[in-house]
Amino acid sequence: MAEKTTSIKYIKDNINSTEFHFKKELGQNFLIDDNIINKIIDNSNITKDDCVLEIGPGMGSLTYYLAQKCDKLVAIEKDDKLIEVLKSNFSDTENVALIHDDVLKYDFSELSNLFKSDRKIKVISNLPYSITSAVIIKLLQHCDIFETLTLMMQKEVAARLTALPSTKDYGSLTLAVEYYAKTRILLNVPLTVFYPKPKVDSSVVFFEIRKTPAVKTEHEKEMFALVRAAFATRRKTLINTLSASLGIDKEKIKLGLAKLNLDENIRGEALNLEQFAMLTDILYK
Ligand code: SAM
Repeated sequence: MAEKTTSIKYIKDNINSTEFHFKKELGQNFLIDDNIINKIIDNSNITKDDCVLEIGPGMGSLTYYLAQKCDKLVAIEKDDKLIEVLKSNFSDTENVALIHDDVLKYDFSELSNLFKSDRKIKVISNLPYSITSAVIIKLLQHCDIFETLTLMMQKEVAARLTALPSTKDYGSLTLAVEYYAKTRILLNVPLTVFYPKPKVDSSVVFFEIRKTPAVKTEHEKEMFALVRAAFATRRKTLINTLSASLGIDKEKIKLGLAKLNLDENIRGEALNLEQFAMLTDILYK
C-alpha cells in the first residue's frame, strides 16, 4: 500500500471508484492528519508485540499506521462500500484481518482465534459517535480480554467519563467505566483534522482496564441496577426512586443510608461508586 491514507485525494479517489456515499448515521468523519494519528498511536502504548482491534477503520487512515506499529491488527467495519475499499487497499498487508460486521453484534469470543493468541488485546478507534456509549459498555463487559482502550469520542462524552458526583456530567456511564477501568483524556482534537468536518469537538480517552474492579461488592448486577435506577430519575430522592423502580422497601433504604451516614433525602447523583457498592450490599444482604 504505497499511497498516503490521510490525503483528501486518497479519500476522493476511493469515493469515485466505489460509488461510496457518506452515511451520517455511521458517523463517517475520516482522519486526514498524520500528526494526530501518530499522536494517538504513540500515546496508546501499542508495541510491536501487540494484538490490536480497530473499530470502524473507515478508509484505513489509522489502520495503515497501526499495522506498522503492532503485531496483528483486526479491524471491524460495518459499511459495505468501505469494506471493499479496505479489502483492495490492505490485501497485501499480511498482519491485517478485516471483518465486515456491526461491532455491536460481533462476537468478541472469535478474536482469540483470529489473533491466534490469548494475549490481551489493545483496542483503538475513532468511534462512530452515535454508538459511543454502547461500544464502551460492550468492551467493558468483555474486559477480561482487553488491556487498554484508546477511543476518540465526542468531547462531551469524554467529560462524562471523568465527571465527579453531583455534577451534570456524572451518571451511570461514569460509574460503569470507573468500576472497570482507569481513564484519562489524552488529547483534545480540532475539527480540522477530519474530512468531512464534524459538528462537535472530539477528545481521545485512554482506558487502562483494571485487574480487579475499583470496588468490592457481592452483588455486582444489583449494584448496576441501583445505579441505573438512581440516574433514570436523578432529580428524585434515592429513597423514592429505588422504592418506585426496584420495589425496595423505603424503611430499608432509609436504614441503609443511615448506616452509611448519608442523609435520607440524598439523591443518587451525590453517591460515589463505593457508596453505591456499600448500599447495594446492605440492601441485598
Ligand atoms: N477510522 C477511520 C478514520 O479515523 O478515518 C474512520 C472513523 S469514522 C469516525 C467511524 C467508522 O466506523 C466509519 O468507517 C463507519 O462506517 C464505522 N462504523 C459505524 N458504525 C459501525 C458499527 N456499528 N460497527 C462497525 N463499524 C461501524
